[in-house]
Amino acid sequence: METLYRSTRETASQTMTSSQAVLQGLTPDGGLFVPVTLPHADFDFDQLANMSYQAVAYEVLKLFFTDYTEAELKACIQAAYGDQFDDPAIAPVAKHGKQYYLELFHGPTIAFKDLALQILPHLMTTAAKKNQLTAEVVILTATSGDTGKAAMAGFADVDQTRIIVFYPQAGVSAIQKQQMVTQVGDNTYVIAINGNFDDAQTKVKELLNDPELRAQLAANQFQFSSANSINIGRLFPQVAYYVYAYAQMIKQGQIKNGDEVNFSVPTGNFGDILAGYYAKQLGTPIHKLICASNRNNVLTDFFNTGVYNKNREFFLTSSPSMDILVSSNLERLVFYLTGEDAQQTAALMADLQTKGEYRLTPTMRQAITDFWAGFVTEGQDQHEIKHLYAHHHYTIDPHTAVASAVAKQYQSATKDQRPMIVVSTASPYKFPNAVLSAITDQADVTVDGLAAVDQLHDLIKTPIPATVENLRTAPVRHDRVSEPDAMAAAIKTILKLN
Ligand SMILES: *Cc1c(COP(=O)(O)O)cnc(C)c1O
Repeated sequence: METLYRSTRETASQTMTSSQAVLQGLTPDGGLFVPVTLPHADFDFDQLANMSYQAVAYEVLKLFFTDYTEAELKACIQAAYGDQFDDPAIAPVAKHGKQYYLELFHGPTIAFKDLALQILPHLMTTAAKKNQLTAEVVILTATSGDTGKAAMAGFADVDQTRIIVFYPQAGVSAIQKQQMVTQVGDNTYVIAINGNFDDAQTKVKELLNDPELRAQLAANQFQFSSANSINIGRLFPQVAYYVYAYAQMIKQGQIKNGDEVNFSVPTGNFGDILAGYYAKQLGTPIHKLICASNRNNVLTDFFNTGVYNKNREFFLTSSPSMDILVSSNLERLVFYLTGEDAQQTAALMADLQTKGEYRLTPTMRQAITDFWAGFVTEGQDQHEIKHLYAHHHYTIDPHTAVASAVAKQYQSATKDQRPMIVVSTASPYKFPNAVLSAITDQADVTVDGLAAVDQLHDLIKTPIPATVENLRTAPVRHDRVSEPDAMAAAIKTILKLN
């Protein structure tokens, strides 16, 4: 059956095919694409347990991207999940202590976003061909550090595309920044913003929907799209690793087919964990999805009180990819909590826009059965890194540590004994300063960047990923800086639209 897509906000909205939705990114009314009807999956997990990551990904993706041919989808998967990953399992699951860790950082930018952003460009260029698009696709992306680099790594020198990345000047790690400003590819542009991630993301969303700017682009043979996790071409490939992880747990003899597991997910924009929600809807035996936050705990409050309130202090933490006050993908969950009521969803999102806050109805709150939420302070985060290093000789990054620590909060609050899989979203070498300070118990380790990488390596001994090694000699290629209000002008300059 064909899976068509509609908007979360418009009741009588037009439907689009999957390839059209990939090209479009956001719906024309500012909502997000969701399947008109959730595809039906009939997974045989005993069989999936013996399949490669690529084969499992095909079983998942064919449910969501139904207007791609089998050959097209398989070519996209082949190109995305190859030897640019330093582990042939792509997403290995390993037990350390009492918990399992689903390692999603073996790709070219050592963060989980590679799982989605290695495939998105292929889904997009295939979609462009299928829809006879002649315009050049301009990807606009706001990043809290990892998306931007992963998106550029995916799109660099891909025909008929350009990618413009905005990142908060003071909100990313030294390694993240160095990874971005050294990005190669004639079609890549990186701009530092004098503001935080939410400023950048809000502005990007505004620009993607600006009718005047869109018209000006169209007149010049350009079309905007988005590589943020709101794009279905990013969201649904992420479903594959939940299904794969479950199958691997069977393969390793940790569970029997049908046993329930929990996943703890370090959450920012709510894309990763939402993919887990879809995996559950498709029949993966998941009991709870643990939504783990850092001090920016807007989601913890949302799940525990039914109120989403972004009017609060914003903190820069050692897990910057989760320093977010507006989690874009949450709109999709809200849509499901309303019983797929677009009008109600639109009204709540309008509240967020005008008041910075929305409240779930009691019925909607009751519909939240699949999630549990918690957050940790910086101290608890560091303690978790130190604990795993000291007791299990396993080093995790600060984002993974948030999920690992909140998983333990969940277990002690609920006494739930089901196997817990912590979604590990970045390599410790991406955040060497924070990890060093945690495992050496020094509050202010001043060394950062590559020097910190070397010190960390001396302690933990795990090999330094090639992508980090390469930074030693890579020249800086990007030095643009912009105020949030000047982002439109920066784009016009790059595209020579003035
Ligand atoms: C992006 C990111 C997250 C948050 O994922 P979302 O899909 O935005 O919730 C967590 N950890 C790392 C390392 C990330 O890069």
